[in-house]
Amino acid sequence: MSGNYHVQVIGGGPAGACCALRLAEWGRRVALEHHTRAATPLSQETLVDSARPLLESWGLLDLAATRWPGTPRHAVIWGDDEVRWRAGIDTSPGYKVVRSEFDSVLRARAVEGGVDMVTATSPEITAVATGKTAPPSAGTSVTTRSLPKTVALCGVVEGVDTWTDTTVIEAVPEGGWWWLPLEDGSASLALLADATDTRVRGIEGVVEAARESAHGPARTHAPPTWFGMNATPRLRTSRRGEVLIGDAASTIDPLSSQGVEKGLASAEEAAYVVNTLLTRPQDREAVLAHHRAWERDLYEAHARRALAFYAREQRFPDAAFWKTRHAALDPEPSTEDDELPARLAPAPDLVPRTVWRRGNRVLLPEAGWTVGDAAPLSRVADVPIASLLELLGDGASIDDVVAAAAARPELYLSTPKRVEGALRQLYRRGFLAGA
Ligand SMILES: Cc1cc2nc3c(=O)[nH]c(=O)nc-3n(C[C@H](O)[C@H](O)[C@H](O)COP(=O)(O)OP(=O)(O)OC[C@H]3O[C@@H](n4cnc5c(N)ncnc54)[C@H](O)[C@@H]3O)c2cc1C
Repeated sequence: MSGNYHVQVIGGGPAGACCALRLAEWGRRVALEHHTRAATPLSQETLVDSARPLLESWGLLDLAATRWPGTPRHAVIWGDDEVRWRAGIDTSPGYKVVRSEFDSVLRARAVEGGVDMVTATSPEITAVATGKTAPPSAGTSVTTRSLPKTVALCGVVEGVDTWTDTTVIEAVPEGGWWWLPLEDGSASLALLADATDTRVRGIEGVVEAARESAHGPARTHAPPTWFGMNATPRLRTSRRGEVLIGDAASTIDPLSSQGVEKGLASAEEAAYVVNTLLTRPQDREAVLAHHRAWERDLYEAHARRALAFYAREQRFPDAAFWKTRHAALDPEPSTEDDELPARLAPAPDLVPRTVWRRGNRVLLPEAGWTVGDAAPLSRVADVPIASLLELLGDGASIDDVVAAAAARPELYLSTPKRVEGALRQLYRRGFLAGA
């Protein structure tokens, strides 16, 4: 135990190690407490190409791209029995990381950057990055949203001689198969299944049925033992004001291959949040509320994408896995141009709410607005909402606002199309109403 630390980060996976490093780079005294928990049988994970900007900004792109090259081919068997090669994969095969090595590199970088691998006695802030298992203060954090309960049934297949260069995602009535061949001639295999269905039918019953329905590698390969773990996408918040990062804040559908990417994004935002809490302790509650909303929006964006992906598979409408996931999908809001009222005005329930934007190493407050529990906004399509509200007054037409905007110094770079687009977006979000 040691004292005099600004921050204690608990858990040295990608989210915790990166957040700790960033805070140390910003001059904070950071303690990182890490215990390696029992490893899962899945030694490697894939990252899709959307992770590239974050890997780049964390200085990890070279490592991810060269030490463990991505699988050359990615196949999807989804919606029908055909094997489809994923578009664009030939130019960007994504990345494959050996997690134990990747995480060790991240912790070593944190230590080089000034982080101490110790338990702090009385840190000013505690940040929890213990992964999808409950954080140490489990009693004080709660799950606030979740998708249908999901279990990942995983195992390792040895001596693989087919599907050796192809990652495969396949839909079967029992759920989704995930296949990842490794360089040593083995492969990781996982079935994402409905947790209730698995409890009723048993692991053996579910995997055997899922193997018989498969057309891809799961049909011909089976690990000697299956290891089951909770893989329910869910959002947690801390009741004690700890900053939750990465999977401790939210877990997403493993089939997305974006958990590590989300952890890196979460680490960056958490570093801003912690640094702001240390700099502006008087704004603690507002900054923590901002952080909860930020993590909630990230989780919800992933949840919507996952459910939309499941909606593309309609062959098994009576299977428990698909029934529950299809039922959880809210209908998409219309993307067609809305017919706007002739005159617009601020919605009656529009209220001011501070927005926290990234500044130089801290979050800075900015005047924003919201309705209901929607995330507050200060700008839309980069147009400041304050100016639009001023131009709208008690009510104005789009043409009037666009014409008046041209004469406003802060809006003169916003084209008429952008101003109109901003008004449409605000109307669609319920921030504006007919006058
Ligand atoms: C079956 C499955 C397959 C997946 N496949 C992929 C994939 O292909 N690609 C992808 O991007 N993501 C994948 N994910 C998700 C990915 O594993 C996580 O999103 C990612 O590991 C989150 O990083 P993290 O740092 O938040 O947590 P973790 O990586 O879980 O790190 C938390 C660390 O904290 C340590 N720890 C735990 N408790 C304590 C404690 N009390 N004190 C100190 N240390 C502690 C743990 O040992 C661990 O090292 C998958 C998940 C599952 C379940």
